[in-house]
Amino acid sequence: MTSSDTPRGPVDSSRVPRYAGPATFARLPRLDEVASADVAVVGVPFDSGVSYRPGARFGGNAVREASRLLRPYNPAQDAAPFALAQVADAGDIAVNPFDIQEAVDTVENAADELLGTGARLLTLGGDHTVALPLLRAAARRHGPLALLHFDAHLDTWDTYFGAAYTHGTPFRRAFEEGLLDTSALGHVGTRGPLYGKADLDEDARMGFGIVTAADVYRQGVDEVVDRLRQRIGERPLYVSVDIDVLDPAHAPGTGTPEAGGLTSRELLEILRGLAGHHVVSADVVEVAPAYDHAEITAVAASHVAYDLVTLMTRDVAARTASD
Ligand code: MN
Ligand code: MN
Repeated sequence: MTSSDTPRGPVDSSRVPRYAGPATFARLPRLDEVASADVAVVGVPFDSGVSYRPGARFGGNAVREASRLLRPYNPAQDAAPFALAQVADAGDIAVNPFDIQEAVDTVENAADELLGTGARLLTLGGDHTVALPLLRAAARRHGPLALLHFDAHLDTWDTYFGAAYTHGTPFRRAFEEGLLDTSALGHVGTRGPLYGKADLDEDARMGFGIVTAADVYRQGVDEVVDRLRQRIGERPLYVSVDIDVLDPAHAPGTGTPEAGGLTSRELLEILRGLAGHHVVSADVVEVAPAYDHAEITAVAASHVAYDLVTLMTRDVAARTASD
């Protein structure tokens, strides 16, 4: 999009009630309804890589449904994200539920195609397996990426049952493939039992720093944000949010819940603290609506997605202005 174009925003809720109208993210136009998009919201209905409860294949549409209530102005970031840049819903990437390798390839190719149009991606999972092909596509365009990974779990394990591509292994593969800038990797919200202390040693060897869920509580959001900002600097940044980073009280609808997690307020405030960084793409994964109650998880995820989109459109606008 050029700076002279006016982005097409959501359906006007003073004319069409929020519970009516399109089922796109935030009731935005579909990608095929606009000339091009600066940020494309895309679903990946895939959960064949999970190790425990399935159901995240329904996550993207649950987040879209909960996103009906999002309004055009984001006061926490003092920005109207859908006016700063064109955001559109690219629909779902149709992936093979019976062949993980093929699904990973399909996501990578579709992400390549979307990124090739100049759009950044906000992907709605799906389980965390999908982060690997998304990182491959993003790294192809930007080189090795800074990564902030919000998750109860490390997701740097080697294999499950001999399988290399699962929702617990994407960041190990990404490290092995050279997709990550190992000087700027962070997990946030880590907690819960591990297989052994070696899990942490191997993770540290890959370059990851850890801000545990307890660190967020003990140090507070501002100190955590300072630490993260120093680590990221000017690098192209990919943000991956596994909704199980939230405490099960805030996100019961997920596949591998762990007690003692972040509040939705803490997560949103940390994300907002990333303003000004070069967020090139992001994902929100592991929403499994069958275990949700009253859309608690989907509402939280839709707000997380909204603040991520706001970070990206602000960065688009800032870079357009400085061109
Ligand atoms: Mn997790
Ligand atoms: Mn995960």
